[in-house]
Amino acid sequence: MGVRLYVSSTRGVRRVSKSSPTIEGAGVRLKRAFGPAEVHLLDPFLLLDDFHSGNPDDYIAGFPWHPHRGMETVTYLIRGVVEHEDSTGNKGVINSGDVQWMTAGSGILHHEMPKEYKGLMQGFQLWVNLPASRKMMSPRYRDVKKEQIPTFSANGDVKAKIIAGQIDGVKGPVKDLVVEVEYLDVSILPNKDFRHSVARGNNAFAYVFEGGGSFDQQHANRVKAEHLVIFTDGDEVKVRADESGVRFLLVSGRPIAEPVAWGGPIVMNTQEELDVAFAELQKGEFIRSH
Ligand code: FE
Repeated sequence: MGVRLYVSSTRGVRRVSKSSPTIEGAGVRLKRAFGPAEVHLLDPFLLLDDFHSGNPDDYIAGFPWHPHRGMETVTYLIRGVVEHEDSTGNKGVINSGDVQWMTAGSGILHHEMPKEYKGLMQGFQLWVNLPASRKMMSPRYRDVKKEQIPTFSANGDVKAKIIAGQIDGVKGPVKDLVVEVEYLDVSILPNKDFRHSVARGNNAFAYVFEGGGSFDQQHANRVKAEHLVIFTDGDEVKVRADESGVRFLLVSGRPIAEPVAWGGPIVMNTQEELDVAFAELQKGEFIRSH
């Protein structure tokens, strides 16, 4: 046996795509960064929606009562106010800078209603899949207030809000996740660099929402706001902000590698499980008492 040399490698850019206008809920105009077509590239992530508008008509209709099962929704509000209430009795308000990490598990019914907000309302909802063994777990919530989210800072050039995961020993408040996920909100000053290690084998994406930058080592492509970067595998990502600076979500997670059967807000492994879920909804037997 020879000596195996291990060379750390920077992740490349597998794909860049622009988010597409979509209407969801009771008529909310949003931008979808990715969805069902990208599951094979981004497992365990299912979907990312970008809500941003200065016009309440685009979002005020909200997301009235609807079910979820077999997955998690992670709502991160940059600016705005969203009221929510659900079948577990949980009720509250998500404010600017807050995160709600909701594990639907066996099932919840909830509503999510953005309130009229002066100026630009902006938020993201990420869907994270659950493995077969945990799809029917008890529903749970983590409500994270803005103040609980630490900011990592490097020389003042880079600021990263750590929602889940860690940078240089600074850990985010969302821990003990079913599926290992790192969720960062990274801001880089103009023409500055950021390197961050991402575990090899985990899928990773960046979603740019302010400014622009390059996400490959060669700095070949400038990626602007409303664009998604899907990374190739490797040990770390390198980002350079352009002259306007850049702000983006950097999210990575360990793939589940199981079949995905997707029925709107319900995500299971098989069509039979979807059929059961929808039959239970019809019969009013969707919500389990654990
Ligand atoms: Fe929902």
